[in-house]
Amino acid sequence: MSGRTARVAGAFRERTGRDPDGVWAAPGRVNLIGEHTDYNDGFVLPAAIDRLVRVAAGRRRDGRLRLWSLQTEPPADLAVAEVGPGRVEGWAAYPAGVAWALGRAGVEVAGADLVVDGDVPAGSGLSSSAALECATATALADLHGAELDRPTLAALARRAENEVVGVPSGVMDQMVSMLGRAGHALFLDTRSLETEQVPLPLEEASLRLVVLDTRAGHRLVDGAYADRRAACEAAAATLGVPALRDATLEQVEGAAGALGDPGLRRARHVVTENARVLAAVELLRAGDLDRLGPLLAASHASLRDDYEVSSDELDTAVEAAVAAGAVGARMTGAGFGGSAIALVPTGLVGPVADRVADAFAAAGFAAPEVTAVIPADGAHRLA
Ligand code: ADP
Ligand code: MG
Repeated sequence: MSGRTARVAGAFRERTGRDPDGVWAAPGRVNLIGEHTDYNDGFVLPAAIDRLVRVAAGRRRDGRLRLWSLQTEPPADLAVAEVGPGRVEGWAAYPAGVAWALGRAGVEVAGADLVVDGDVPAGSGLSSSAALECATATALADLHGAELDRPTLAALARRAENEVVGVPSGVMDQMVSMLGRAGHALFLDTRSLETEQVPLPLEEASLRLVVLDTRAGHRLVDGAYADRRAACEAAAATLGVPALRDATLEQVEGAAGALGDPGLRRARHVVTENARVLAAVELLRAGDLDRLGPLLAASHASLRDDYEVSSDELDTAVEAAVAAGAVGARMTGAGFGGSAIALVPTGLVGPVADRVADAFAAAGFAAPEVTAVIPADGAHRLA
């Protein structure tokens, strides 16, 4: 048992006085490209990363869920039957929501003790929430002998977040946390849920995937996120298409008057971003990682100017990384703070980190956290 696995198993024993029945884990993610496309039936290209939420789990037969986190207080002790939309406070809503969603999928959770230990930083845009949900979903499904496939587990993890936590997120984060594969990015069509594992041979290309965490939590994210979703739905209705996935750039620009401002810019971001995902997948299929730079730059500019979900910190991080030699960089995740990613030649990770830190200091921002991550496997059992 590796160090972190033994640690969460030990924490489980301390709290419950027995051994866990198993330890499961699911990763956080970065999104290489395809931002704010997932609720428009569009394309995304995320990768699971080597940051995990681990869950040590033990069966119960009394219908109770007892939940602890080594990162977050307070613990929770609740009846599975009491869980539902709006009925659980705080972090416990994520794992409890998963138990509820499993029930909706026909797997009645008989109760469980869960101890959570994560190294996906919460609120940094690396989707610790999906990692927590997916680790819990695999743990509870295995404990109950439920043979649900990974897309089904991803869908019910998302349902927990949407309905019990109350965050109207798309399905990208849970899909990649379930289906990610080491050394690959996951090309996902969020309409058909078709997936393709696309090789991401960073080492062969002498590149590192670097996370630039601005340490500015996603401010304003709730209202602004809902606002962007509503703008997309309105634009699709104006264009007479089921979703912006179905619109072309010509259609959007031709309807400039009807879409107005910012409707035109919101729709233009989604339509051009979908095209950038397809172009990025083509480059990866051809092994041309070092040609991703212009696509990452165009994605960031579109998110900053048309979609208006970047922040001063994210813009500063992206500019500094590119100035220090990154092949490309862009914000990742919903925006308004959180993290950016950069593709960096192996020898330049230190200089990029220094340049970003200097730029943050000069702008009076809190120190950023710069770390390389590795494309990793999706949810799995550790012990
Ligand atoms: P992100 O998914 O970008 O990290 P979210 O706001 O969607 O940010 O999710 C963060 C929330 O997920 C935390 O506030 C907490 O409720 C929950 N969470 C994440 N990791 C853990 C953990 N290790 N223990 C308990 N709760 C966690
Ligand atoms: Mg989240």
